[in-house]
Amino acid sequence: MIRKVKGTRDILPPESRLWQAVEAEAVRTFGAFGYDEIRLPLLEPTELFVRGVGEGTDIVGKEMYTFTDRKGRSLTLRPEGTAGVARAYIENGLGQRPHPLRLFYAGPMFRYEKMQRGRYRQFSQIGIELLGAATPEADVEVLLALHTYLGRLGFDDLVILLNDLGDPEDRAPYVARLKEELGPHREALCADCRRRWDENPLRILDCKVERCREIVSGTTPIAETVSAEARAHVDRVRELLETLGVAVRPAPRLVRGLDYYMRTVFEVVSPALGEHAVICGGGRYDRLIADLGGPAVPGVGFAIGEDRLVDVLPEAYCRRVLEVPFVAVVPVGAAAAAAQALAQRLREAGVRTEVEVSGRSLRAGLKWAAKTGARVAVIVGEDEAARGEAVVRDMAAGEQRTVTVDALVEAVEPLLEADGGADDGH
Ligand code: ATP
Ligand code: MG
Repeated sequence: MIRKVKGTRDILPPESRLWQAVEAEAVRTFGAFGYDEIRLPLLEPTELFVRGVGEGTDIVGKEMYTFTDRKGRSLTLRPEGTAGVARAYIENGLGQRPHPLRLFYAGPMFRYEKMQRGRYRQFSQIGIELLGAATPEADVEVLLALHTYLGRLGFDDLVILLNDLGDPEDRAPYVARLKEELGPHREALCADCRRRWDENPLRILDCKVERCREIVSGTTPIAETVSAEARAHVDRVRELLETLGVAVRPAPRLVRGLDYYMRTVFEVVSPALGEHAVICGGGRYDRLIADLGGPAVPGVGFAIGEDRLVDVLPEAYCRRVLEVPFVAVVPVGAAAAAAQALAQRLREAGVRTEVEVSGRSLRAGLKWAAKTGARVAVIVGEDEAARGEAVVRDMAAGEQRTVTVDALVEAVEPLLEADGGADDGH
């Protein structure tokens, strides 16, 4: 037996419906905010991520799927979406379009990580990017879109954590100060953090190891050291969010795993999964496009981890998506064409309808209908077909009656709704 590559997953039905549903809701919600989809390659030049995400990051340092192609070029399976968006912005001259530009993406990302629940080597992200607006109002829109989206999925326990990373110029003095404060504890830090000391000291703040968290809790928060402009920016973001009723919690040690973030940074965590279970990360990145050789275009956005999102979806939402009532049509004798014709009427009325095509007898056909969970069976034999009739059977009640073909949809629909139904109009 050939097995799937470690860290990849098969998303099987019916769970795949949840994936379709959250993706469709993303298109709907972010579309309502004016975001259009950008579809980008999974394969990019390695240099894009080295320069875009940053050499000292975990992603570039140890998580990339990088290989040399047949012509000796170094390619990488994309580990995240924003660098690709920035590349596409520059390459396609999107700067010519009216700004700001609102872009949405969804799709697989690849990182060579230690596999565990919620951590895979191929995983999917759903994200938006707002390009060309440097204002706090832009950050607020992105956070409102995120909040709206999570609300529509039925979440009521997710927490948005927010921090101020300041401007890139604020970084070096803060890092120096941080190292000074951490100096006496350097040897007590975990091995990862001792490596981060030189490579990416800010990431020490973000370490999940309890001992490191204790040490870090004594340090000066970065937000207290940033420029007045950066502080005013993020204060304004908080103020507007409060007016809009979008609750955010200050998170003074929050830093992100990518170098390009500045000023506003945020994460969404699920208390259900513990506060380390980050479902979404995002923030402002005003220098990224310029760093990649493009114009000085500011940006703000986020990426939701779809695997983790689906993992913690509220139960009521899952039920609504998974329990789609459906009809099983069982032909008896030479009624295959009549069965499909009846099914077509139901399908056109928006009813999920499966036809028995394996040549089962009536008895076996009804057994199959019950086993697959059909709420209604429609039985049609040669005689019924000739008279333009069919038998509609309520599977739960075990009751059935004969109806004319024209009255079929009308007869079936109330039976499907009996349990509250799953058709919420989408
Ligand atoms: P973490 O701290 O969990 O490693 P990260 O900071 O590397 O997250 P981001 O690069 O910000 O994550 O990506 C945004 C979101 O994508 C994360 O919040 C998470 O939900 C999801 N994500 C990241 N890496 C993985 C992975 N290996 N498997 C599944 N989901 C992931
Ligand atoms: Mg990571």
